[in-house]
Amino acid sequence: MKRILVNGAGGFIGGHMVKRLKREGHWVRGVDIKHHEYAVSLADEFILGDLCDQRVIAEAVDGIDEVYQFAADMGGAGYIFTGEHDADVMRNSATINLNTLHYGVQAGVKKFFYSSSACIYPAYNQEDAQNPKCSEESAYPAAPDSEYGWEKLFSERLYLSYMRNYGVAVRVARFHNIFGIEGTWTGGKEKAPAAMCRKVAEAEDGREIEIWGDGEQTRSFLYVDECVEGVRRLVESDFSGPVNIGSEEMVTINQLAEMVMQIAGKKLALRHIAGPLGVRGRNSDNHMIAERLGWKPTRPLREGMEKTYGWIHEQVMSARAQEMTAKK
Ligand code: NAD
Repeated sequence: MKRILVNGAGGFIGGHMVKRLKREGHWVRGVDIKHHEYAVSLADEFILGDLCDQRVIAEAVDGIDEVYQFAADMGGAGYIFTGEHDADVMRNSATINLNTLHYGVQAGVKKFFYSSSACIYPAYNQEDAQNPKCSEESAYPAAPDSEYGWEKLFSERLYLSYMRNYGVAVRVARFHNIFGIEGTWTGGKEKAPAAMCRKVAEAEDGREIEIWGDGEQTRSFLYVDECVEGVRRLVESDFSGPVNIGSEEMVTINQLAEMVMQIAGKKLALRHIAGPLGVRGRNSDNHMIAERLGWKPTRPLREGMEKTYGWIHEQVMSARAQEMTAKK
């Protein structure tokens, strides 16, 4: 049994990781500026605090063997690609990472997992929707298309510098669009799969939903359970990364919308409107993870989308019921 700290335990992936680590029998401390919105945390201790505050991080890393660092100021395209949040995104996330490493090393933490992102990959390799290039070595010469991506790249390098200079073990993964139950589905920080499920769940059959852009931009999406499995395998391996953790099942956003409509049993028209888009095409390249860990994610997108739609449909229905009660 290890003593593990999960930064961002009140968030989507951090929340799932706490559950997994508890199932494995570890002692877990979670920290976040907010409690989890959709689940009761199973962490043995939960610190409600800002990881930019040095007193909070110093308390959080005390007595800890391993840190899983998921805390970041982030959201979907509507949050990170508009430019309106760039300064906050860069400051908050970089400060969390600087604090985690500095105070973690001082407290004797032996291993750090860092969640980087596919957003670090150069925009110039992702202009062709059908042939994006996201193999790990293609990260340089660097040209991420968002400040969120630049901060992630800086922080990858920061973790690897601490590994070289302070002798701590570091594992870095680049996540590609993780989705699933108990994640943000409304409010402006939700990502494409959750937003699509919400729009379809809210729409009456025969009506229309809005899609940003022409919908021909491509992405791949990985269900959160497979992401957590990949992270645990990486952390237990002797490979530092950075390595992609994502799905290779690339779809257009229009295809994703069709899939959700099929799952819901609804036929809706797609209305394409202007909106923040990000790169034209993106897909995970899983050669390295297969080679180094002897494993890669394999579950079909449809399976994860069915679970996610079911959960978001419940959220939409219970939000409606609450509204009706409030009106009475
Ligand atoms: P999330 O927003 O659900 O979780 C992040 C958590 O960090 C939130 O609960 C938030 O409150 C917390 N946080 C932010 N600032 C904080 C602060 N100053 N102090 C304490 N807590 C703070 O996001 P997620 O989807 O669970 O992502 C987890 C990590 O994985 C993030 O670092 C993200 O950048 C990375 N990532 C996620 C995806 C994805 O598709 N979900 C893709 C690539 C990378």
